[in-house]
Amino acid sequence: MIHYVDETEIKNKKVIVRCDFNVPIQDGKIIDNSRIIKSLETINLLLKNNNALILMSHLGRIKTAEDKEKYSLQVVRNELSRLLNKDVKFLNSPVGMETMKVCKELKNGEVVLLENTRYCDLTERLESNNDLNLAKYWASLADVFVVDAFGSLHRNHASVAGISTYLPTYIGLLVKEEINNLNPVIMNIKRPFTIFMGGAKVDDKLGYIKLLLKKCDKLLLGGGIANSFLYACGYDVKDSLCTTDEMTLDEIRELIKVYKDKIIMPIDFVIEDNKILDLGDRTINKYKKYLDESKTIFINGTCGKFEESRFSHGTIALFSTLKNNSAIKIAGGGDTLNAINEFGLQDAFTFLSSGGGASLEYISNNNLAALDYINKHTDTNRQ
Ligand code: ADP
Ligand code: MG
Repeated sequence: MIHYVDETEIKNKKVIVRCDFNVPIQDGKIIDNSRIIKSLETINLLLKNNNALILMSHLGRIKTAEDKEKYSLQVVRNELSRLLNKDVKFLNSPVGMETMKVCKELKNGEVVLLENTRYCDLTERLESNNDLNLAKYWASLADVFVVDAFGSLHRNHASVAGISTYLPTYIGLLVKEEINNLNPVIMNIKRPFTIFMGGAKVDDKLGYIKLLLKKCDKLLLGGGIANSFLYACGYDVKDSLCTTDEMTLDEIRELIKVYKDKIIMPIDFVIEDNKILDLGDRTINKYKKYLDESKTIFINGTCGKFEESRFSHGTIALFSTLKNNSAIKIAGGGDTLNAINEFGLQDAFTFLSSGGGASLEYISNNNLAALDYINKHTDTNRQ
């Protein structure tokens, strides 16, 4: 059973909290702190109840020794201290004797942030492979485990899932908000249910597309994904972003055969240097008609290469049409949210999911790998 952190009294305990502080950093500065802000609710609730908090998160990917410096959580510590108006201690390593000692001596009301959990991926990928000795070590630092890293819940990593093998585990308020808001596309879906999928790489998203096609009534395509579907049908997309993987193309052809009434492809484009870089007005109007008739809408990906203003028109026009639409309108995806924020289109949506891969996984699979793991492994009564 999944238990939320606000449904149980966790008081005067040592709590290890897995957050998602995987924020964008440029020149050593955090350029968007929204993930940290979203984590504060759970942190503040636990602090109000006089707990001692050991916070952990990953940041980026650690493949080489140089990555360690690039992806240190030190900057996150500074930002957290500022936002909490409180001294947050910092440990230079997510593991080791010093970490153990500081966590052991941590007093109620105090907060410590461990260094990037993926430092443990450097030689043997212990974090990402859910090494249970590592999970057990982290569990040994605390009495209770709280998971609030929504953006990581599609991954069974040691710090996200593994720790629940050894500690009573509760789900945080950010995850609760995401789950509650995403549930209209999981169960009792109000139909028609229309999905727009755009963005860059079809190879990454094809698995999700297959599952989503079973659930939705219409799938509208844009971006590199649409290019790949068009190419699979024999359309010459010239130098456009498009998959060339024969297996992927075969799978796309099969999907088009099975779901020919559900899959809707673009009919005009903005082209430059032999590349399709945005959707045209006729396509946007056609998609608008489907969206206007829908009761539930999910958006993932952009219509075109929106980072360059001459290719942002399709994305702005399509998302703007949702403003006067009374459907449940949910968007997810890192770049998708960047576009929505950049063009000030937040009002057009009922909910913006903070987890890209996680929201896609949840909506297409009706489940999240780490939640499933926690559900099977934790026993909250084991205190
Ligand atoms: P998300 O991060 O929200 O899951 P994606 O990364 O899949 O979304 O898609 C957004 C990216 O896709 C953007 O960087 C955008 O520039 C790119 N993109 C969309 N359409 C095209 C296109 N026609 N050609 C090249 N890049 C595109
Ligand atoms: Mg992206």
